[in-house]
Amino acid sequence: MALIVQKYGGTSVGNTDRIKNVARRVAKSRAEGDQIVVVVSAMSGVTDGLIKLSKEITPLPSEREMDMLLATGEQQTIALTAIALHAAGIPAVSLTGAQAGIVTDGVHTKAKIQNITPAEVHRLLDAGNVVIVAGFQGQTEEGQITTLGRGGSDLTAIALAAALKADLCQIYTDVDGVYTADPRLVPTAHKLPEISYDEMLELAGAGAKVMQLRSVEFAKKFDVIFEVRSSLNENPGTIVKEETKSMEDVVVRGVSIDKNQAKITVEGVPDQPGRAARIFKALSEAAINVDMIVQNVSHAGGVRVTDISFTVDKPDLLKASKVIDGIRPDLAFTNVSTDESIGKLSIVGVGMRSHSGVAARMFETLASEGINIGMISTSEIKISVIIDSKDGDRAVKAVHQAFIG
Ligand code: ASP
Ligand code: MG
Repeated sequence: MALIVQKYGGTSVGNTDRIKNVARRVAKSRAEGDQIVVVVSAMSGVTDGLIKLSKEITPLPSEREMDMLLATGEQQTIALTAIALHAAGIPAVSLTGAQAGIVTDGVHTKAKIQNITPAEVHRLLDAGNVVIVAGFQGQTEEGQITTLGRGGSDLTAIALAAALKADLCQIYTDVDGVYTADPRLVPTAHKLPEISYDEMLELAGAGAKVMQLRSVEFAKKFDVIFEVRSSLNENPGTIVKEETKSMEDVVVRGVSIDKNQAKITVEGVPDQPGRAARIFKALSEAAINVDMIVQNVSHAGGVRVTDISFTVDKPDLLKASKVIDGIRPDLAFTNVSTDESIGKLSIVGVGMRSHSGVAARMFETLASEGINIGMISTSEIKISVIIDSKDGDRAVKAVHQAFIG
């Protein structure tokens, strides 16, 4: 008898027909003799709808009350899923995060899981029940309800799988798995049978968002092997696991384009120690995430000045420009400019470590398409370039063709 954790995302429980579909799938797994723990998200649109309601009242609602509010989304789904299982004749009990023993720190709206004591989950499983746990939520030692950050149901599933020492963790979503590129952009893209944690993290960071980033980091840390697959068909999905030697045979596992970035250039910054530090300290104090950074040195009228360009998430652009304007008197730069029409094209693969000439091949491919490269950054297993957003789709296709086919 195996213990299986199955997580169903918002679209997989998006209406009562979908919830009945989940109940059918769970019933089938259980009929094979296994113990099943189901983790569910709020029905799609529910969390956003609740956030919208609060914003109709005030732009900055209390974070404690937001957790109280948002936790209700998942609480609806666990009860409806239990009801659907009962209707199918299957014994099932729903549990809130707190009832499932999920203890978090007290950082409301983005709490971290501190420990899980799943005694109640085990007791209910041993009594023959399917146990349905609300994703995305927990409780502090003091009994305050918390949530784990957007997309946090993935984290609940991975963390529960670790705590329960589950034999299998399945993340059911509305796509068939992880693809070599977005199949809507690249018709020849194919589903990957497996991918390493690090590749999955780099792809997610590069804009190919299948799962919450933190949940993949957690899985890596605690060695939780999981499968991403569709709740709408029987196709096998993508297994995400520790890197194996044979994974290095493939140079590029995936290609992605992130059009959600914007570029800021601070021009004419005096080329002296401490200037860059001041820019990025001010940005980090404003909780703005900076992705790529490029600095050039130039001479202007005998004074050494430099241009510093960096990218931020598009929604942070206005805030970031204001921060830079605010330090203008102190920094004595000449101008700031912004560019929203950029895209970040990335190739990811652990095989890059043992193959040479990968960057050259990527740049040549873009050159032959007449696509200009604005900025470049690399890690051991990723190469990213900033290009014009209008070239984005063409670039993904060409680079996918060159490396993957
Ligand atoms: N309902 C939460 C959200 O929309 C958590 C989740 O779906 O994983 O972010
Ligand atoms: Mg989700």
